[in-house]
Amino acid sequence: MPRLIFLGAPGAGKGTQAKLTADLCSIPHISTGDILRAAVANQTPLGIQAKSYMDRGDLVPDQLVVALIQERLNNADAQDGWILDGFPRNVLQAEFLDSLLNQIEQPYDYVVNLEVPDDVLASRMLERGRTDDTEEVIHNRLKVYREQTSPLIDFYTKRKKLAVVDGNQLVEKVTMDLKKLI
Ligand code: AMP
Repeated sequence: MPRLIFLGAPGAGKGTQAKLTADLCSIPHISTGDILRAAVANQTPLGIQAKSYMDRGDLVPDQLVVALIQERLNNADAQDGWILDGFPRNVLQAEFLDSLLNQIEQPYDYVVNLEVPDDVLASRMLERGRTDDTEEVIHNRLKVYREQTSPLIDFYTKRKKLAVVDGNQLVEKVTMDLKKLI
């Protein structure tokens, strides 16, 4: 079963497509954003530490997210394929992931970058109406993406692992393109 990493700016439809693709392949959809939101809702120690960063649209400190992903990838259900959505978010996390996957002998197959133009991203985020989707926070999340996450496009291109999918199409068409890729 495939091991895939989904990249893409906030609002690119990464969560929707990662979930659809994971269901299609019957593998877990591992979204650090979903896990963190659940932790915030349940007021766990992780959630309490992560909340203020998330409310601002900043990245949660690496050591918290890295511990979370390490634990999640050790789960029994994650031993035969998965889709990572929202992790890694910067070069340090990507380097950590490389060494973790090496260590547990679970190499990823490739990294999917869902490409969507900037103006479409902001309007999509405003439409979904999440509590961390106010205009100011959206602006910051896009800035954080450009500064910290977009260098990963280069990181994975250099490793010859990047697959680009046009995310600016109907949801069904994007899903079809992803299916072809797998
Ligand atoms: P997402 O649902 O992927 O857009 O994530 C929502 C929020 O969770 C982000 O704005 C970050 O504050 C936090 N978050 C999710 N994944 C990560 C990560 N890999 N590293 C740091 N913060 C993250």
